[in-house]
Amino acid sequence: MAPRKLAAGNWKMNGTLAALAEIDRLRSDHPAPGCDVLICPPATLIHAVAATGIATGGQDCHARPSGAHTGDIAAAQLSDAGASHVILGHSERRTDHAETNAQVVAKAVAAHAAGLVAVICLGETEAQRDAGDTLAVISEQLAGSVPQDATAANTVIAYEPVWAIGTGRTPTNDQIAEVHALLRDRLSARFADGADMSLLYGGSVKPGNAAEIFAIPHVNGALVGGASLKAADFGPIIAALSAA
Ligand code: PEP
Repeated sequence: MAPRKLAAGNWKMNGTLAALAEIDRLRSDHPAPGCDVLICPPATLIHAVAATGIATGGQDCHARPSGAHTGDIAAAQLSDAGASHVILGHSERRTDHAETNAQVVAKAVAAHAAGLVAVICLGETEAQRDAGDTLAVISEQLAGSVPQDATAANTVIAYEPVWAIGTGRTPTNDQIAEVHALLRDRLSARFADGADMSLLYGGSVKPGNAAEIFAIPHVNGALVGGASLKAADFGPIIAALSAA
């Protein structure tokens, strides 16, 4: 099995019911995309987005199945609302909520137990890249954030350099290729089907740079923030991945 191609949209804390019109537009403009398409809206919209028939994901889950955790959402609750995926360890969670690798791996185990595909994010800060520490940071996050029960069917890895998220800046193709080759090597060494796990690039993917990024070896799709909010932007990214 080859890695599945996935265009995943992370709406972050954006969108109300009015945003469902963008999904309608996306689905009518791209009725049969040549890749998997996933929308991860705010939790308030998961049920409504899932009802459109598009694959839907949460943006975080709690590691526990239930209990006194005000404001948190359990993986099984995401699934119950219609989600098939959940983003975990996004840099905004690691920064804003001080999430550690240990917490991310516990959440991934919970996601798998609930039948969700975990989209596990990792990436270096600009200071870490400038210090020449990128590959060491990625290796440590990969080892610490991906649970032992990960398979190509239940796990997607997203490489998202922190300095490229929402900034309009992207790494060079060689920099993306270097990290994705490392990810593929490490995953293949650790997991029986590591060669088949989907690897996404994320960080300022736009219609204008998508085709070039999707041509990089071991890039099987993208995790897209800002450009996933409008069908006019996300549609061409889906088309570029379909053609890759
Ligand atoms: C993200 O939030 O995962 C992301 C990649 O954002 P953007 O595409 O806006 O850089």
